[in-house]
Amino acid sequence: MINVTKTYLPPFGEYTDILKRAWDKSWITNNGELVQELEKKLKEQLCVNHLLFTSNGTVVLQIALKALNITKEVITTPFSYVATTNAILWEGCQPVFVDIEPTACCIDVSKIEAAITERTEAILVTHVYGFPCDVDKIEVIAVKHKLKVIYDGAHAFGAKYKGKSLLSFGDITTCSFHATKLFHTVEGGCIICNDDELARKLLLYRQFGHIGEDYYSMGINGKNSEFHAAMGLAVLPKISDIILKRKAVSELYDTLLNFNEINKPVIPAETVFNYGYYPVIFKSEQIVLRVLDALLQNNIAARRYFYPSLNQLPFLKEYQPCLISEATSKCVLTIPLFYDLSETDTRRIAAIINQQL
Ligand SMILES: *Cc1c(COP(=O)(O)O)cnc(C)c1O
Repeated sequence: MINVTKTYLPPFGEYTDILKRAWDKSWITNNGELVQELEKKLKEQLCVNHLLFTSNGTVVLQIALKALNITKEVITTPFSYVATTNAILWEGCQPVFVDIEPTACCIDVSKIEAAITERTEAILVTHVYGFPCDVDKIEVIAVKHKLKVIYDGAHAFGAKYKGKSLLSFGDITTCSFHATKLFHTVEGGCIICNDDELARKLLLYRQFGHIGEDYYSMGINGKNSEFHAAMGLAVLPKISDIILKRKAVSELYDTLLNFNEINKPVIPAETVFNYGYYPVIFKSEQIVLRVLDALLQNNIAARRYFYPSLNQLPFLKEYQPCLISEATSKCVLTIPLFYDLSETDTRRIAAIINQQL
């Protein structure tokens, strides 16, 4: 079976060598040496002031909303993984969906201001597929209307915009290090900010609101373990090589797929792309279903990332139309892309797709 992604696993001995340091000390969680080392390396690599390693990329969205005191309306994108909307709902806030622009599939910033009401407190949007949102315009809007900005950077590890890590924008950026993501720690994530006071709040919220015997605030358990940090430390040195290999596969798809019949999102200018996904947009949902079926008959799994459009989730109270996102969701597939997808398999996948058009 060829899956849409395949988790990069380091040589087993490299993982256990790192893990052994925690093992020998019998210190396997609660801000251990490996967690601290991973946080330090990530902070240096991403050039950010504060970064906390967490148990996943969902709890950090919840912590972010909580730490910024967001309780009312949150402007968000309908084109993301369901965790983005769920976090807003889970925190008792109301998602206000603003449609996407059709080229990079991120939120259409020209439509944000019309959605702002006196109850709007934040903008929580996704750099979908690792394509940057228009962070400059979003900042202008946020300053003008006194809104907080949270970026769901779950797809953005390794991507850069205007020379800076894409994870360094907004009041807070979150990331997921789930096994299906480009950089992974099996399960895991992080929360990033530049403000010292906010960072202290995030730290407390991650670990039950206390440091040692001193209790400062409420909190939740968003910590992660030495086992997970060890995986991160083993995978991190390989990331640039993993990205290069994914780039080669992506560029081969670029030459093989029939772009008279297929559309591809356009990578915004001044972006260093991370090759985290290879999304393709077909002309109809019928073709998508046909392609999925043909791939599956060959033991190949593509995924409908992202479908449904989140404004159409069945448990939402009211329907807020987002026609571009709805149309894109019906027609999009991400196709297999991982570090060791062979040239033969890449060619086979492209041929099967082209046959269905
Ligand atoms: C994967 C993902 C998440 C959730 O991350 P987990 O680590 O699985 O909790 C959140 N947002 C987006 C956009 C994602 O793709």
